[in-house]
Amino acid sequence: MKDRQKDRLLWGDEVEYMMVSLDHTNRRARLSQRAHEVLALLQVDETEQLERAKRTGEKPDLEALWRPEFGRYMIEGTPGQPYRSTVNDLVNVEASMKRRTMKVLLTITSYPVLGSGDFLEPPHKANGTFSRSLFLPDEVINPHPRFRTLAANIRERRGAKVAINMPIFHDVNTPKPFIDPTIPYERDVFPGDKEAKEGAALPDHIYMDAMGFGMGCCCLQITMQAPNVNQARRLYDQLAVVGAVMMTLSASSPIFRGYLADVDCRWNTIAAARGEIPLAKDRFVIPKSRYGTIDTFLGSDDGHFKSEYNDLELVYDREIYAYLLTQGIDDLLARHIAHLFIRDPLVIFEELLHQDDSVSADHFENIQSTNWQNVRFKPPPPNSPIGWRVEFRPLEIQLTDYENAAFSVFMILLARALLAYDINLYIPVTRMDINMQRAHNRDAVLNEKFFFRRNVLATGEPESAQDADEIAEMSANEILNGSDSFVGLVPIVLMYLDTVTLDAQVKSKIQEYVAFIQGRANGSIMTGATWIRNFVRTHPEYKFDSVVSPEVNYDLMVALNEILLGAAGAASVASDVSH
Ligand code: ADP
Ligand code: MG
Ligand code: MG
Ligand code: MG
Ligand code: MG
Repeated sequence: MKDRQKDRLLWGDEVEYMMVSLDHTNRRARLSQRAHEVLALLQVDETEQLERAKRTGEKPDLEALWRPEFGRYMIEGTPGQPYRSTVNDLVNVEASMKRRTMKVLLTITSYPVLGSGDFLEPPHKANGTFSRSLFLPDEVINPHPRFRTLAANIRERRGAKVAINMPIFHDVNTPKPFIDPTIPYERDVFPGDKEAKEGAALPDHIYMDAMGFGMGCCCLQITMQAPNVNQARRLYDQLAVVGAVMMTLSASSPIFRGYLADVDCRWNTIAAARGEIPLAKDRFVIPKSRYGTIDTFLGSDDGHFKSEYNDLELVYDREIYAYLLTQGIDDLLARHIAHLFIRDPLVIFEELLHQDDSVSADHFENIQSTNWQNVRFKPPPPNSPIGWRVEFRPLEIQLTDYENAAFSVFMILLARALLAYDINLYIPVTRMDINMQRAHNRDAVLNEKFFFRRNVLATGEPESAQDADEIAEMSANEILNGSDSFVGLVPIVLMYLDTVTLDAQVKSKIQEYVAFIQGRANGSIMTGATWIRNFVRTHPEYKFDSVVSPEVNYDLMVALNEILLGAAGAASVASDVSH
């Protein structure tokens, strides 16, 4: 596939949804366990059309594709086919999302009371053998064996339960130190029940002991096709760098397991599902999680990559690496692939064990799809018309279609601008990791600084080579909107838009989206996280003790639902949510 050229800039989004059941009598909002039943209904059209296609050769024309997710209360929806590659087509994104949302509704990144009290319908006790969690019954997991096995295998490989600790938001009445009284420290059902008491649960933190807390979050992902492999490699590297600041702009998860957190983003809940103690029999000691920022840049033919940017000592499979070199794969790409293969597969189905690797990429996809990183390099599947793609994965899902469309459209325009101009965004991989951690912090969009390259347009004439490579710490506002000493990503996007002929209606819609991103960055439009946090802190029943009660959660879900229902007719949702 290395010589594929001129593939179109097709792209598509993935939106993840939660099914919430509202019990108005008791003022409870509970996660429904019936997503897979609804999924079966949503997929009827697809199944029928695919069958017809087989019989008649007629091409399927689907409104949306629906897929299972880790949570039994979750569903993923994508457009029926990728969006076309013209900028004018961007105007169709929001409508596509709206059609999907009308069917499934809530787009919440982290369900506020997941694992707290009576949060599931029908109710179940937390005593399942797959997760062995003190808080999450196995019934939150999709009943397909893949997902339960995933949960059990991650726990078994670690040799202990997952230990996720998100810092608590200390409100005026929150005890200091905060020792969570709702943890059943004395439970004695499974080995590992004592871990919480023996140090896994940190003081001043919200402790979570199952990967379901991370995998049970929803996000917005965007996959884009590049014209050829080199352009895909450029995009991969550049999008990895902007991941942290874009996640900050999209922040929408300020509550975990019934407590207000001192963070606004979900990312770390899943990054914590890593093995901390390397097993002696393992071939590799792996310092980072399967879920994290990328560990190595791919480089491309644009000449901007320098080896010092890959400043993390990379663990990779030497044999695979050496083999790939003999196949004509270059050093950086070979390292990337050999690095993916330091992980063992998490789940393998016996019936799928024997594959003909010359026609099926299943084994590769199995490894690839359990390396959950901020960007993913998606090579063309064998024997398919699909080209080289890059997936952008750090965004939190937004509360409305308007916002999800705005983020998606902005990312597509940014990607196109990055490809159209000779832009250099490289910073060392380890700086990118620091950015990602900072991006979590409460109100990071207003208060944090991120490492970013000052001279990104290669056309400038910096005084010296060193100036050319200067890395500064900048706020989200500076990075997006620019400053005296930095051009800004939004101006780059606007510069690109000036070169494109647009229908008037499309132009005004796109300008609206770009203005929305500008507003998020300069703080004039608050994040979903801030909106939710404010909702809780101004709720008459909130006791300023960080606790999000089931009643407050119910009112929050009702409010979100009303915004969405209102949004179905009105286009100005973002301002409802944000002001
Ligand atoms: P995964 O779950 O592996 O990330 P999905 O198939 O769920 O992938 O979603 C991939 C997204 O990519 C969808 O939005 C889909 O419309 C889009 N897509 C499909 N084909 C292409 C293509 N050739 N180029 C770009 N995007 C594509
Ligand atoms: Mg998907
Ligand atoms: Mg997926
Ligand atoms: Mg998904
Ligand atoms: Mg995806």
